[in-house]
Amino acid sequence: MRRLQVGDVSITSIIERDGPWRVAETMFPNAPPGAAHALLPLMDPRTYEAATNKMVITYQSFIVRTPHHTVLVDTCTGEDKGYPAPMDFPKQPWLDGLRAEGLTVGDIDYVFCTHLHIDHCGWNTTLKDGRWVPTFPNAKYIFHKREYAFWEAAANNPQPGVHNPAVFRMNCEPVVAAGQAMLVDDDFALDDCLTLIPTPGHSACHCCLDIRSRGQRAVITGDLMHHQLQVNEPGWSTIFCQDPAAAVLSRLKVFGDVADTPTAVLPIHFPNPTAGRLRHTADGFRWAFIED
Ligand SMILES: [Zn+2]
Repeated sequence: MRRLQVGDVSITSIIERDGPWRVAETMFPNAPPGAAHALLPLMDPRTYEAATNKMVITYQSFIVRTPHHTVLVDTCTGEDKGYPAPMDFPKQPWLDGLRAEGLTVGDIDYVFCTHLHIDHCGWNTTLKDGRWVPTFPNAKYIFHKREYAFWEAAANNPQPGVHNPAVFRMNCEPVVAAGQAMLVDDDFALDDCLTLIPTPGHSACHCCLDIRSRGQRAVITGDLMHHQLQVNEPGWSTIFCQDPAAAVLSRLKVFGDVADTPTAVLPIHFPNPTAGRLRHTADGFRWAFIED
């Protein structure tokens, strides 16, 4: 994604992995049989590889620079976590991306996690001398307090095969232990240009990040949707959604808010050029990328 300017705020991307990833039928359990396959050829060709029938899914972070602070939004899967394939991405592309931004880990002022799934909190911590410590020594980490409380409770009472408690133990708990976490509520705001939009459903308290400056607006939508298909079909939640019905309501709330406006929408998993806009149609919503 090229640099997106929103008034005085700029947004860029650091990609951890990219490319064809999943077959839609395995991702959207409540899609009618054949519906995804029929719809995919109508999607932007950058979101779908017809030869393999796979959706193109990117794993990335966003760097949001306000006039006062550098904010890292979502931190991919990270390094040394010991995750089994295919979640054991090489670490170098993300580190190279940080460097290409002209940044070191010491330059990040805030880390904002839209939610605390495996692919959104990985670089929160790094392994030093056998201990997980915050990767960004000068950063405050912003977690929604209900999201954090859910994963803390889940880690303390793990259900086999449901959640991997190691994700919380490695990526979240050490940040709180180091005194670098801000456990915030629905009214969180930063620098007069960043506010939180609670969008529960995909996880206990998934959040979007609302960015407004000089009359312009962008919304980082985390995992509110994973693929363009869900703009046409907001009723399709994923196998990864904790409360699929709530996820639908959150999508409709945000879609209705941003559609037919110049607001740039930035879903974490949409491939380059990533940012897009929504418009209403007679039967719902449609997506169009903002071209580089
Ligand atoms: Zn995700």
